[in-house]
Amino acid sequence: MKTPMIMTPGPTYIHEDVRKAMSREVTNPDLDKNFYEFYKETCEQLKKVYNTTNEVLILNGEGILGLEASCASLIEPGDRVLCIDNGIFGNGFADFAKIYGADVTYFKTDYKKAVSVNELEEFLKVDNKFKIATLVHCETPSGITNPVKNMCPLLNKYGIITVVDSVSALGGEEMKVDEWDMDIVLSGSQKCLSAAPGLTILSISEKAWQKINNRSTPIAGFYSNLSIWKNWYQNKTFPYTQPISDIYGLREAVDRILMDKDVLLRHKKIANATRVSLLNSGIKLYATSGYSNTVTTALVPEGISYNEIFITMVEDYNIMIAGGFNFLKDKVFRIGHMGENCREEKVYITLKALDWVLRKYGVVLKSEIHVEFVKAMKQ
Ligand SMILES: *Cc1c(COP(=O)(O)O)cnc(C)c1O
Repeated sequence: MKTPMIMTPGPTYIHEDVRKAMSREVTNPDLDKNFYEFYKETCEQLKKVYNTTNEVLILNGEGILGLEASCASLIEPGDRVLCIDNGIFGNGFADFAKIYGADVTYFKTDYKKAVSVNELEEFLKVDNKFKIATLVHCETPSGITNPVKNMCPLLNKYGIITVVDSVSALGGEEMKVDEWDMDIVLSGSQKCLSAAPGLTILSISEKAWQKINNRSTPIAGFYSNLSIWKNWYQNKTFPYTQPISDIYGLREAVDRILMDKDVLLRHKKIANATRVSLLNSGIKLYATSGYSNTVTTALVPEGISYNEIFITMVEDYNIMIAGGFNFLKDKVFRIGHMGENCREEKVYITLKALDWVLRKYGVVLKSEIHVEFVKAMKQ
């Protein structure tokens, strides 16, 4: 069985050098002092991706662990938490907050648009007594990137601790943790960072640490308790055995991003050309504003079903794209142009295959999708 080319919004293609790094000989990560240095250096490299001097941790669990660990460690029963909800992940964040006893208030806005900073500002003028706010940087299901750059400083003005899910944005969208006053920013290894699934990454501000360290109730859980990482480096003890091969791979992936000076510009250009190519061919996008640079969500056109697109893309061309879930199930298809997937030739091949699959089912297109993509890339 040949592995398909995965053009999904995570997991993404893993570069050969990253796979090789994962096959390196393994030492005992608890006893070998060199591994403590390696872990620390990897966090230092990640700080450059985050643009922060805040502490960075790598935890052994997929992106969801970062989300859960932030909620478990910050939230005390009865804390008022503002959940900013313009999509499936934003809404789901509140469910995690509730597990840990949060008194949740939703700031719910149009699911087809990026969050409006002005509307958030008006809302906060009336009610701002929140300890914590949860935000999603890129709503992966709908292909929308929220203006966290303006949202976090605004929330910070009211002393609200911000927790940002940047799982599908970090490494593909601009990120300035210190400049934008972001408290916890969590991400995952398998999206724009293009490492193997299985790790979550968090940057944690001093303000967030103070809340975590000055709780009046103990943190429920161990794996999701961030305070167990206190002084890990000074004491040379990890709270549990580290997934060393995964961290070797992550390090290589992060080093590759830092060497790639065009990475953010390439994401912007390819995302724009992808949207233009679909629109010029007569395919509608789901979102109406705030288009993501890492994933494009388009409506399944008349005359074909999502399942037919998915299966034929794999069977005829060995290319895997993704669909929707929750209320978007069967309504949309998604192309992930993030991380290692964000290469002109890969997106071109994907769009060419998509063009042929749609025509095979009799979908009438106004233009050839891949030809439009090439034109848009030249502009
Ligand atoms: C992928 C992703 C996660 C992690 O979810 P999984 O579906 O378990 O991979 C969390 N938040 C966002 C915004 C994501 O895109």
